[in-house]
Amino acid sequence: MGGHAKTDAVNSGSKDAPTEAEFKKRDANWPVVLFYIHVYILGTYGIYVTFTSASWPTILFTALLTLLGMLGVTVGVHRLWAHRTFTATVPLRVFLMLCQTLAGQGTIYSRVQAHRLHHAKFQEDDDPYYSKQSFMYAQLHGNLLKYSRQQEQLLLTVDMSDMENDGIVMFQKRYYVLLYIGLNVLLPVNTPFQYFGETLGVSTFVGFWLRNLIVLNVGNLVNSAHFIWSIHKGFKPTDSNSIFFITKSFWPQFHYLLPYDYQSGEFGDYASGTGTTMIRIFAALDMAKNLRTVSSVAVRNGLTLAVETKRPIVECIEEQVKLEQNALPANHYLNREKFM
Ligand SMILES: [Zn+2]
Repeated sequence: MGGHAKTDAVNSGSKDAPTEAEFKKRDANWPVVLFYIHVYILGTYGIYVTFTSASWPTILFTALLTLLGMLGVTVGVHRLWAHRTFTATVPLRVFLMLCQTLAGQGTIYSRVQAHRLHHAKFQEDDDPYYSKQSFMYAQLHGNLLKYSRQQEQLLLTVDMSDMENDGIVMFQKRYYVLLYIGLNVLLPVNTPFQYFGETLGVSTFVGFWLRNLIVLNVGNLVNSAHFIWSIHKGFKPTDSNSIFFITKSFWPQFHYLLPYDYQSGEFGDYASGTGTTMIRIFAALDMAKNLRTVSSVAVRNGLTLAVETKRPIVECIEEQVKLEQNALPANHYLNREKFM
């Protein structure tokens, strides 16, 4: 009896100690859900307003802010901060931080932390954008949920020391609400209203809601694009691995293997997208330095080595990358045909 009583006590103790299911459960993040509902409804109406009422200055100004927001997500959060594919001078980091604030997706710090967990747990239960599920989960649903208790614990284990040593990232984290109001609300809404003779309604629908609809959806693609541009099991053999390994297209597999390559475009391209071009321009201006890349020769040699030695692919490719490090000139980004 005493033994049973003890077992019961342990079982009923689950009120305090959560079960595995409770530990992994993700609740809805209602403020975010409400925000997304508004973004979708009012942003869609913003499309109508753009074609019927907005003036050209408003449209061009909003388009510019939209592009800068995307740049903040792809070049800023993803390639510079999450994966350290290059180093940036202080002015460039300030610029990218301001761009990222325009994306309205939360702080650089929180996005980097979540993206690093996404890579560490890619296609596992603890991936915040649970990749085994569906495109819509990664693109939308996963963003509307709070982290599970397990994910919260895992987030604390993500190494963020480089972020904590980056004064610009920490400045944005500290003053995010003020920066958000200034850059993501006042600047895009007030400018058309004050200077382009727009009504407050048109300024709000186009400058805030429609812009957020576009930037949030494009920004979320960073975590969901692999559903669109990756190799799936149903691919014909002729379409698959050989092409991916030689050209490094089919971005996701290459990016999830070797995430530190600055040329990995977020949307399925390699070496030819806007983000890559912008990094090259920043490098030519001496604002971006130490651009990291992996040549196709290193990938091919690494693969051969992996087949011959049966060692892990990434280890073999990285060995080849080290071998060619001295052969790669510092300004390799100016000669991309030769060094891509
Ligand atoms: Zn990534």
